[in-house]
Amino acid sequence: MASTTLQGLPASPGIAVGRCWTVDRRKVRTPRRNIAAEEVEAELSRLEAAIELSVRQLDGVKARMETADGAEHLAILEVHRAMLRDPSLVDESRRLVREERVNVEWAVKRTIRKIKGAFSEDDEFFRERRSDVDYVGERIVKNLLGQGVDVVETPPPGSIVVARDLSPADTAILFHDRKVAGLVTDAGGITSHTAIVARALEIPAVVGAGKATTTAERGDWIVVDGGRGLVVVNPSPGERADYEAARIRQMEREAELARLKDLPAETVDGVRLRMLGNIEFGEEVPGLLSHGGEGVGLYRTEFLFMGRTELPTEEDHYRDYRNILEAMGGRPVTVRTFDLGGDKLPSGQKDHSENPALGLRAVRYCLRHPDLFHAQLRAAVRAAAHGNLRLMFPMVSGVAEVRAAKWMLTEAFEEVVAQGLEARMPPVGIMVELPAAAVVADRLAQEVDFLSIGTNDLIQYTIGVDRQNKDVAYLYKPLHLAVLRMLRSIADAARAAGKTVSMCGEMAGEPLYTLVLLGLGLDELSMNGPSIPLVKRVIRSASAREGRELLDRLLGLNTADDIEREVRAEMTRRFPGLLEGDAAVGPVSG
Ligand code: PEP
Ligand code: MG
Repeated sequence: MASTTLQGLPASPGIAVGRCWTVDRRKVRTPRRNIAAEEVEAELSRLEAAIELSVRQLDGVKARMETADGAEHLAILEVHRAMLRDPSLVDESRRLVREERVNVEWAVKRTIRKIKGAFSEDDEFFRERRSDVDYVGERIVKNLLGQGVDVVETPPPGSIVVARDLSPADTAILFHDRKVAGLVTDAGGITSHTAIVARALEIPAVVGAGKATTTAERGDWIVVDGGRGLVVVNPSPGERADYEAARIRQMEREAELARLKDLPAETVDGVRLRMLGNIEFGEEVPGLLSHGGEGVGLYRTEFLFMGRTELPTEEDHYRDYRNILEAMGGRPVTVRTFDLGGDKLPSGQKDHSENPALGLRAVRYCLRHPDLFHAQLRAAVRAAAHGNLRLMFPMVSGVAEVRAAKWMLTEAFEEVVAQGLEARMPPVGIMVELPAAAVVADRLAQEVDFLSIGTNDLIQYTIGVDRQNKDVAYLYKPLHLAVLRMLRSIADAARAAGKTVSMCGEMAGEPLYTLVLLGLGLDELSMNGPSIPLVKRVIRSASAREGRELLDRLLGLNTADDIEREVRAEMTRRFPGLLEGDAAVGPVSG
C-alpha cells in the first residue's frame, strides 16, 4: 500500500512511530421538536439532570487522573465544569424551552451557537475558545440523548491516537498514563488544549492534519513528526526504518542533553547567561523545570482569557500567578501584562480598525481600559509577596507610556497596602518590540529595571512584514542588517544604564543565532522549554569573544542573505552537525 503524507500543524515536537488507534467522536445530531405547554417542566428537569450527570462525569475523569502523572494538566476540566453551570448557558436554554416551547437538546444547541458567536472565528486563540464551548454543549446534549460521551476504550501502549478532535476530558483519559506514543487530530490549532497537554507531557503531536481520520485505519502503521507537523500513513518499510532511526537518534540526543540540566549556561571564557522559559499556561512549569529552566522570562498572561465567557477577575489572576510563582520556587517569573488587542480581545469585542497590529494593542489597550489593567496590577503586586515576580509591559513606544503604566502600578500597590493586604512592589521592565522603543532604549532603560527584546514583533515592525502573512514570509529575516543594528544598540543602551537585558522572541531559542546573541552581551535568553538544552550546549562550547568577533563581521555585510550565509558557515565550522539536528556540539561536560 502506498504511503500518504499529510501536512498539519506542529503541535508538540518529537517523532513517534506506531500503530494507528482511531477514536470515533462523530458530531451528534440534534433535531428540533416543538413541545406542549405541559411538557415544559419535564424538559427543564431533563436539563437539570443532564447537567448534574455532566458534572459527575467530569468529576469522575478528574478523580481517575488525580493520582496519575500529569494531574496538574487537568485545570481545563475545572473550567468546563464551571461552564456547565454558567448562567449564560443554563438561563438562555431554559428561556428557549419556556418561551419558544422547543425540546431542550435543541435549546442547548442554539444557546451554544449564540455563545460561540461572541468569539471571533478569525483568530486561533478564540477559535479554541469556541471549541471549549462546543465540548461543554456536546456533553450536555449527548447526555440528554443517552449517548456515550468520552472515549472508553484504552489504546494499547505505543499507539498513535488519531481523532477528528479530542475534548480535554478525552485527552486526559487517553494520556493519563502516558502510554500513547503520539497524537494526530484532523481539527485544532496549536493553542488547543489537546496541543497544550501534548506539549506539557511531551507526546509528539500534529493537529489540524485535515484528513487523518479518513486516511488511516485502526492498526495501520503511522509516523508522527511533531516538529515538522508531518503525518505519514502506511509508511514503506524503508520510511519506517528511517523515521525509527531518527527517533532513536533524537532520544539519544535528548538523553545526552538532559545531562546539561543542572549545569550553568556559561561560555568557555566565563560569561554566564540565565536560561528562562516562555509559557502560556501554568501547566508548562514542570516541563520547563525538567529542561533546566532557571525561571520564566515571559508569561503571556492574555492566555488566561482561555475557556472563559467572562473576564478573569483579580482573584483569578492572583491565584494563577501565585501558583506559578510557588511552582517555580523562588526563581524569577516575568509576568507580561495583557498583550490584548487586534483579534485577541475579550469575548464579544472586535477590533474593526484597518491595521489592528498598529492599533489599540497591549499596553495601549490596558491604559485605555484602566479597570481591566488595575485588576491585573493589583493581582500582580499581591502575588509578588509570594515569590520572585517581575512585571513587564508589552509594546511600549516611548517614555510617556512607561510612566503612565508605572503610575498605575504604584496606585494599585498603594491601594492594596492601604487595604492591609500582603503585597510587594515588583521589579518593572518593558518589552522592546517597536523600532521607536529600540531607538530610545537608552531613555527607557532609565525608567525601568530591565529590558526584554521581543524579536517576533521587533522584526515585524522594523522590516514592515506581517508576521502572520505567508506571502511576505520570505522578507521576515532575523539577520537583516537593520535588525542586527537595532539589537546591538538596545543591548548597549541597557548595559550602559546598568540594567538587565533579555531576549524572549523566538530568535532566542534558535541555536543558529546563539553565537550572534552571545556577541550582543545579553544577560538572559527566554525560549520554549525544550529549546533550552541545545542552546545551552552551544553556549557552553562557545566563547563570548567569538560571538563579538562574529557580530562585528556581520555588521560589515549588507544583505540578510550574506549575513545568514556567514552565520551558517561559522556555525557549521564551529558546531558540525548542529544545523542538521545532529548536535555534535562538543563534549557535554567541561
Ligand atoms: C515578541 O514579540 O517577540 C514576543 C515575545 O511577544 P509575542 O510573541 O507574544 O508577541
Ligand atoms: Mg510581541
